[in-house]
Amino acid sequence: MTAQKRIGIYPGSFDPPTNGHLDIVQRATGLFDEVIVGVGVNLAKKTMFSGDERVALMREAVSALGNVRVEPFDGLQVDFARKHAARFIIRGIRALSDFEFEFEMANMNRTLAPEIEMVFLMTSPEYLFLSASRVKELHAFGADVSKYVPAPVQKRLGKIPPRRGQRTGAMEGNE
Ligand code: ADP
Repeated sequence: MTAQKRIGIYPGSFDPPTNGHLDIVQRATGLFDEVIVGVGVNLAKKTMFSGDERVALMREAVSALGNVRVEPFDGLQVDFARKHAARFIIRGIRALSDFEFEFEMANMNRTLAPEIEMVFLMTSPEYLFLSASRVKELHAFGADVSKYVPAPVQKRLGKIPPRRGQRTGAMEGNE
């Protein structure tokens, strides 16, 4: 049997990357030969950070990990997976509400690309209540978010004055 490289993509908006996301990336690196983090750059949802910024922040955050790459993507998760010859799509699950959304998405993906397997990693308990939205909210109100985000994100947020954190004015692009 020829060994096929096990490639998994981890798609998301990562607006901004949090320690919860990084925990999933780190754990995924132990399961796959290569993990490709897909940063959705043309999302319907309005983001605080531009696509380029989110890619750059994620790249910095995972720079110490050997088998991880970060690439922008625009479109369907399954198309991104196929483009990179990935047979797995990795997602993190925190709560029942995540499950419902992911279940629906997984079934959609299965219909579109039956050869691709969805892999769900349960959040580590310390990140159960951590979300990118919560980080932005805390920052907007002047709270210290250093224990929730990687250093490059903390540094970037430090340049945005509290209470303006929720605005897109400090960012470039049309998101
Ligand atoms: P999306 O907009 O596609 O949901 P996110 O950037 O919000 O993208 O999240 C990307 C993935 O990371 C999703 O699978 C999400 O459930 C997961 N995730 C987000 N926060 C955490 C966390 N604290 N612990 C584990 N997984 C998480």
